[in-house]
Amino acid sequence: MASQTETLEFQAETRQLLQLVIHSIYSNKDIFLRELISNASDALDKLRLESLTDSDLAVDTADLHITLEADREARTLTVRDNGIGMTRDEVVDLIGTIAKSGTASLLAKIKEAKDAEAAQSLIGQFGVGFYSAFMVADKVTLRTRRAGTEQGTAWESDGEGSYTVSEAEGLPVGTSVTLHLKPADGEDGMGDYLAGWKIRQIVKQYSDFIRWPIRMAAEAGEAGEDGTRPEPETLNSMKALWARPRSEVTEAEYHEFYQQISHDWQPPAQTIHMKAEGTFEYEALLFLPAHAPFDLFARDTKRGVQLYVKRVFIMDDCEALMPNYLRFVKGVVDAHDLSLNVSREILQHDRQITAVRRRLVKKVLGAVKDLRTKDAEGYAKLWEQFGRVLKEGLIEDRDNTDALLELVSADSTHDPEQPTTLRGYVERMKEGQDCIYYLTGENRAMVENSPHMEAVTAKGYEVLILTDPVDEVWTDQVPAFDGHRFQSIAKGQVDLGEEAEGSEEAKAEKAKREEDYAALLGWLGTTLAEQVKEVRLSSRLTTSAACLVGDANDLTPTLEKMYRAMGQELPPVKRILELNPTHPLVTALYEAHRAEPGAPALVEIAELVHGSALLAEGGDLPDPARFTRLLTDRLARTL
Ligand code: ADP
Ligand code: MG
Repeated sequence: MASQTETLEFQAETRQLLQLVIHSIYSNKDIFLRELISNASDALDKLRLESLTDSDLAVDTADLHITLEADREARTLTVRDNGIGMTRDEVVDLIGTIAKSGTASLLAKIKEAKDAEAAQSLIGQFGVGFYSAFMVADKVTLRTRRAGTEQGTAWESDGEGSYTVSEAEGLPVGTSVTLHLKPADGEDGMGDYLAGWKIRQIVKQYSDFIRWPIRMAAEAGEAGEDGTRPEPETLNSMKALWARPRSEVTEAEYHEFYQQISHDWQPPAQTIHMKAEGTFEYEALLFLPAHAPFDLFARDTKRGVQLYVKRVFIMDDCEALMPNYLRFVKGVVDAHDLSLNVSREILQHDRQITAVRRRLVKKVLGAVKDLRTKDAEGYAKLWEQFGRVLKEGLIEDRDNTDALLELVSADSTHDPEQPTTLRGYVERMKEGQDCIYYLTGENRAMVENSPHMEAVTAKGYEVLILTDPVDEVWTDQVPAFDGHRFQSIAKGQVDLGEEAEGSEEAKAEKAKREEDYAALLGWLGTTLAEQVKEVRLSSRLTTSAACLVGDANDLTPTLEKMYRAMGQELPPVKRILELNPTHPLVTALYEAHRAEPGAPALVEIAELVHGSALLAEGGDLPDPARFTRLLTDRLARTL
């Protein structure tokens, strides 16, 4: 029987889409193979499912697989599967039209889009799938026979206005798609898709975890000396651990997989393996590494989570799935209901992806917490490696502030050997203490020896010692932990509760002293106006004569330094000089000023007091030579 060839027109919309695809919306042509393999894999899934549910279907499902065949002479690449196949009507329906709803309006938007990038981001909203073959082929022939039917169908098109459909005899069950490749001239990103290495590379990159074997038939010229053809080679590993139930995966397999994706030779600190079912299905396999990569703080560090769609690799560094402060988390998320062409822009705005991300973040923070409760030493290590990054979350991720605060581990005056949790701090808080006291600085020694510590530690209050640059920022933005305000002991007026305890007489005495000192403080304020914005009496000092403090909203000196180091222009940040009215130097200064207000010698003393306060907290003197000269002159006179 002569087969009937029928020529059919593509739907107008299909034609438009084809034009868009052919005229290279995609800079990456390699993805055509990913699309065809994904279709073949779906067809194999469908056949297996149907063979299980329809016992009348007489098909052999023992060796379901995908074969790639390159023919150099004919310049064709064929993707073949022994899957479900299609009937003639299905071919016309599925391949000849775009059944997806909303296509027309989407195409209209794409045409209106001003540039290629906007167009590409729009087109990512649905898969171009099969048509991507026309990016690399000027003719495509599809031959197929539906399982359970006898009649095969051939479909062919050059991707212009029309296609032909005819009957084909003697086809096995399944589908083969033959691409008549365009010339590979290296332009337009057109690779040599007949080369074994290129095919291997694309399969490895995009389709490694497809659950069916992807075999590459030996090329025609590769026959061995005795004339036998070599065995086909399986290109993909098929090992999608994330798709297997947790109970069936061994620890060693997790580690091996982690190594593969992270290139880290140490086993991970924590493994998270989850499966979400329901309206938006996905699997996630995430790892917390045991140690930080060298580039964790580089400006453009990549995030470690890869996105897959039904085992097809879509992208690395998927920022939509993991916030920046969890950039050290490595792993894979396989979402079932996304288009293979989904773009970063679309992911960023996808509500379901946002929900996935929220859930993943909770899982990761939960895993960190888990480690803390189960393995203190492991937790200490993790915190040492990633604590600084996790604390960025206190600034970035307001939804999880409480969970993050629970994880914080910080040095404290309580125990020089052991860092504390905030919970631990709160449990040790003294009667009547309502804030969590902390002091930031460049290192532990500097903070511990800072004059600001004096009265607080004399009172027996514990102070957190925060020395990471990020501490300067989050402490400004997170108001409280468990109802207790964070209070820098170098900022604002520190109220250590003496007012409450103090008698009426003590209060009166304090007021009187302030009145007495008003003249001196006023004069010092004018004399040191270049350096400080105010001079006042202090209640935070016991042994030092003076210290410098900031207002609640002022930049700390470390933060100011950081901003300047980053090249930010800032007006000089003036601080407040606080004097200890019980210190002999301060009382002597007071007497001297009363005897001879503003005497020239007093100006030098004022400078020395300010300079010493600056040095005591580890600050840099604006003019060290001058300070040293004033000091040595003074010393010489006392001898
Ligand atoms: P999608 O895969 O997103 O549905 P495609 O354009 O890739 O879109 O494919 C369109 C349809 O054509 C598929 O849904 C499937 O029904 C059919 N199809 C494509 N390739 C095959 C194949 N190898 N075997 C069986 N059906 C196929
Ligand atoms: Mg497809």
